Amino acid sequence: MSTPAWAESLVEVVCADAGVAPPRLSWRRRQGDHSTGVARRHDGTIAVRAGADPIDQRLTLLHELAHWLTPMPAGRSGRRRRRVPHHDLAFYRIAFDLYRRHGLADADALRLESARYPSSLRHAVVLGIAGAREALIDRWATLRARPTRRWRVLVPEHAVRLARDGRWHVCSTCGQRIVGSNLSRMRGARRPLRHVLMGAEGAAS
Ligand SMILES: [Zn+2]
Ligand SMILES: [Zn+2]
Repeated sequence: MSTPAWAESLVEVVCADAGVAPPRLSWRRRQGDHSTGVARRHDGTIAVRAGADPIDQRLTLLHELAHWLTPMPAGRSGRRRRRVPHHDLAFYRIAFDLYRRHGLADADALRLESARYPSSLRHAVVLGIAGAREALIDRWATLRARPTRRWRVLVPEHAVRLARDGRWHVCSTCGQRIVGSNLSRMRGARRPLRHVLMGAEGAAS
């Protein structure tokens, strides 16, 4: 589908206000209510996959525009092409300001943003967003009420001894599978690496 006119003009207005060149906007649909987005600085685009909820579409586009406007950390640009976006205070200062100036109620911004990034709430508290403190206290209460898993040590710490188990590599002492980056780390290590085997007990109330 083609990019909706409101989205094109939002990109124009936000970037003109900030005095930066606008990205190209790519717009596709996705199933479900929620939208996803990504800002790709190196190729000058913001891509949105738009779900059905119009408020969430707007928030998603503004979130990616906040990435677009957030200065890159000094001295680190270009080291990695695909940098992990930083959802820090500097980012949220820009993001919540955009949400507010471009038609999102604080309550919607908090609700949708914290559903994706719970850590946004403590930044929102610092930024003085209405309702943020209450939402953060609610979240703490929910976390505290949630049953926690208890972990216990099944096999105490030991040196990893690689062995084959069919097509898998396992530790011959505890039987854990060793895969992917852990496997290459083990093979590259000068001295045997050590680990423990932990197991979850049933949820405690
Ligand atoms: Zn982000
Ligand atoms: Zn082991």
